[in-house]
Order: sequence, then structure tokens, then C-alpha cells
Amino acid sequence: MNTEIYTIEQAQEVLQKYYGYPDFREGQKKIVESLLQGEDTLGIMPTGGGKSICYQIPALLLPGLTLVVSPLISLMKDQVDALTTMGISAAYINSTLSGKEVNDRIRAAGRGELKLLYVAPERLELDWFQNEMADLSISCVAVDEAHCVSQWGHDFRTSYLSVAPFVSSLPHRPILAAFTATATLEVMDDMLRLLRLKDPAVFVTGLGRDNLAMSVLRGENKREYVMNYTAAHSAEPGIIYAATRKEVDDLYERLRQAGIQAGRYHAGLSDQERADNQEAFLYDDIRVMVATNAFGMGIDKSNVRYVIHYNMPKNMEAYVQEAGRAGRDGEPSECILLFSAQDIMTQKFLIEQNPQEGDRKRNDYRKLQQMIEYCYSNRCLRFAMLEYFGEEHDQKPCGICSSCRDERELTDMTRDAQVIFSCIYRMRERFGVSMVASVLKGSQNKKVLQYGFDSLPTYGMMRTRTEKEISELINTFVADGYLSLSEGQYPVVRLQPVAADVLKGNHQVMMRAPLPSASTATSGSSR
Ligand code: ADP
Ligand code: ZN
Repeated sequence: MNTEIYTIEQAQEVLQKYYGYPDFREGQKKIVESLLQGEDTLGIMPTGGGKSICYQIPALLLPGLTLVVSPLISLMKDQVDALTTMGISAAYINSTLSGKEVNDRIRAAGRGELKLLYVAPERLELDWFQNEMADLSISCVAVDEAHCVSQWGHDFRTSYLSVAPFVSSLPHRPILAAFTATATLEVMDDMLRLLRLKDPAVFVTGLGRDNLAMSVLRGENKREYVMNYTAAHSAEPGIIYAATRKEVDDLYERLRQAGIQAGRYHAGLSDQERADNQEAFLYDDIRVMVATNAFGMGIDKSNVRYVIHYNMPKNMEAYVQEAGRAGRDGEPSECILLFSAQDIMTQKFLIEQNPQEGDRKRNDYRKLQQMIEYCYSNRCLRFAMLEYFGEEHDQKPCGICSSCRDERELTDMTRDAQVIFSCIYRMRERFGVSMVASVLKGSQNKKVLQYGFDSLPTYGMMRTRTEKEISELINTFVADGYLSLSEGQYPVVRLQPVAADVLKGNHQVMMRAPLPSASTATSGSSR
């Protein structure tokens, strides 16, 4: 419908004029260019990466209207207010408006007075709305939080399935743009398929924002760590995510007692209290927000200096989304994950609590497994993260994550690896981590004896170590790809091809120091 080609220079002018930013961020530029060339585009960017500008700038250049599908009523209003303040004509339509207000806004769009119109996805299912929209000149449909179309994602919304039929119902097919912060391959596939993007350009960017120093700390006394950290950073805004309300309340009380300006946020508080606490955090009246994962969707606070995870989240998508709330202003910030083996039990328990079965459940377990592998990884955490999301990277270690900063010497662990791998082999790759650890420890455990594992040559070959230490070591080998775990509630350890090379003496296994002292592990999190 429009043949004119707009240049990125024009887009830059608009960016400077309305937003006052000197330039696009790297990822934004590619997406804006793609949309200006009229291509369907999928943009995957971390929270805070600057997705909204990717469709707002093309909206200002393209003729006609850009329709923005957005899932959250509160976000819609904030976005429209921000645009209006900048002198951009925008409006939203949602259930908070009267029929007359809705009509007025549609009329305004019809007169060409609006560049952007935000709507909730449910709206697209209504016949009368489709008819009204068919009369407008819509150049672009931008779908925000596009992962909501996928059942694999964590925020499935049925009404997102109506985006594609809605777009088809329009007399002229607009450019389709989709945005999300979280995408695994399955979710990406769903978005492309279910939103029916046509020959789309896909851009995955900035997951490894280089101002974020990622750390995974194993075996810390979590509570002590949090108390010390918040005291040492008392002037900086930060978020602490904990798995349960109880844990949030408990940490919150302790921080208050220690004189730290803390607030809390979870689904057990009244709407009013949640809103007040959120506000206080946004305006720096409190420094630390202790929260469950209920906190954060749609929070735009740019100067969060740290995000601490008191517990391991259920998967990498959730982790990246939550950790990504740190450092949106591009200043150096920390993302710290306090991991303990207890967290694995908690997440498994939550999966079992969930009524879903079959593929969904297997998927949850698989994702949990990948999250655990991240926690045990000795490699650059930014690599580990980027690879998980299928983003290409330049093979240069980030230099600031806990693995890169780990100054412990690399030690030759080939001998330990051989003992463990050979034990797994002799147990016919049919048991889980703790059973293998028991055998290596030389445990008199009934099951060990019952299977006759006490007669294996590897029985008791690691008896100087605790079973916990042996388990940690096995998990590290899993994270480093020597071993794999099957899916499900009781995963079985198996050898990967490279393990055979290790057993044959053709591959040396180098690792950081033998093992962290396990003495303090989990003491902070036991309930
Ligand atoms: P997202 O929707 O991806 O979470 P936003 O669109 O809300 O991110 O943008 C996050 C922050 O980054 C906002 O404060 C925004 O003003 C800022 N921002 C976006 N693009 C740029 C840019 N090109 N230059 C400077 N700041 C930017
Ligand atoms: Zn690194």
C-alpha cells in the first residue's frame, strides 16, 4: 500500500526530534530499518532494551495508523501518556473507557489524527471493531509481549490467537511487527507461526547487555549474604526476588530491623499496599524491594543497580526477564543468583503442584534442568545465556561474570571425571545423580546394596568426599556437557560422547578448583 522507502537517517531525525536521543541502540536500528522496508519483523530484546521505540519511530514515518496490541491496561495508559507528553498523537482503547470515548477515539483515528492506537488483544475478536478498523488506513500492526501467543511461554493469552485472523481481515495487509523479551526456540516458532508473520526478519539482540555483571553463587549463607550486600549498597536501588511470600516477608522484616529502607511486594498484600510500595520504590523512597516474581511486569525504573535472586527461578526465561530489570540505564549493575540444592527441590515441588500433564510438564522439567545447568556452569555466564537463547555471540568471554572473575586456578580434574564416568557406565546409565554419588561414596544405603553396587570396582572410590560434594561435581559435569540428565521428575545421568574420550584418556578435563566447601551450603534457605 505504500511504496515510499524511508531511510534510517529520517528515522534518526525523528528520534532526536521527539525523544531527544542522539542515536538508536544497535538492535533498534536493525528492527527500524526492517520495518521501514516494509518487512514483517520479529524483535527479541531484553526488558529495557528499548522495544517501544522500534515501532513508535516507524509509526511516525509511515502513513496512516499503527495499531499496537498490548496486554496490560496500565502499560497502555503509561505509554500513551508518555507519547502525548512528547507531542506524539496517540490514544488507547480498553475496557476502562465508555462507549462514547471509544467511538471518539476511533473517529479521531478515522480523521487521521492519530499515529498510534493501543488496543488490548481481546478487542480484535469483536466484529464491530474489525469493521471499524477495516475503514482505517493501518500501515503497521505491532504486537507487544508477543510470547503471549505461545502456550509454551509463561503468559499465554488466548486472545493473542486472534491477531492473525484480525490482520487477515483487513483490506490491505499491514506490516506486522512482533516484540518480546523472552524467546526460546519453541516460543519463537509459535510466534512466527501463530501470528502468521510473512517471511519475517528476526532480530535477537542485547540479551547479554554488557553493563550487567552476572553471578551465580553456590553454597553461600544466603541470608547473611543479603544482609551484608544490602548494607554495603544501602544508597542504591535494588530488587531481591524470593520464591515464596513467606520468604519475602521474612527477609523484609530482617532488613527493616537492620535499618535498611526496604519494601515488599507479593500477591498476598492488598492492591493498595502493593501500589504504594511500588510507588515508593519508583520514587526512591525505599531502596530495596523484596518481592516474589509478581513484581516487575511493566515496571520502568532505569536505575536499579542490582537484582538478587534469593532462590533459583523456574527457568532461564524467567531469570533473564527478572535479572534484566537491573541496569536499564546502561550503567554497571549486578545480577546475583544465590543457588542452593534446596532450590531444585522447591521448583520440582512447584511443577508437581501444577495440574498440567504430558508435554507441558516434561517441558517444565526440561527448562528447569537447563536452569540448573546454568547454575552449575563454569563457563562465561553470558555465553551460557546467549547460547540458551540461540543468540550469536563473538566468542569473547565477558570478563565480568562470576565465572570470568573466578580467580581459582584451573585444575586438571580428569582423574575424578574418569572415576565418575566409569561408575555411571557400570551402573548402566540408569540412575540419578544422588544414587551415583552414594555408590562413589561407598554408602551402605539399602538400594545400593540391593542392586549389588557394592561389588563395583568404583564403589567407594570417592569416600573421602561427602555425597553432596560428589553430587555437585556430577552436576558440574552435566553443566559442562560431559554428562546429560534425562527429562522428568527423576532424571537419570547419562554419558555424552565426549565422556567416552575422557575415559579413553583422549580428553583432559580442566575445571576451577576442586569443590567449594559445602559446609555453609543451604543453611540460609532451609525451611
Ligand atoms: P522495553 O519495552 O524493551 O522494556 P522501553 O522501550 O521501555 O524498553 O525502553 C527502556 C528504556 O530505554 C526507556 O527508559 C527508554 O526511554 C530508553 N531508551 C530506549 N531507546 C533508547 C535510545 N536509543 N537511547 C537512549 N535511551 C533509550
Ligand atoms: Zn563471563
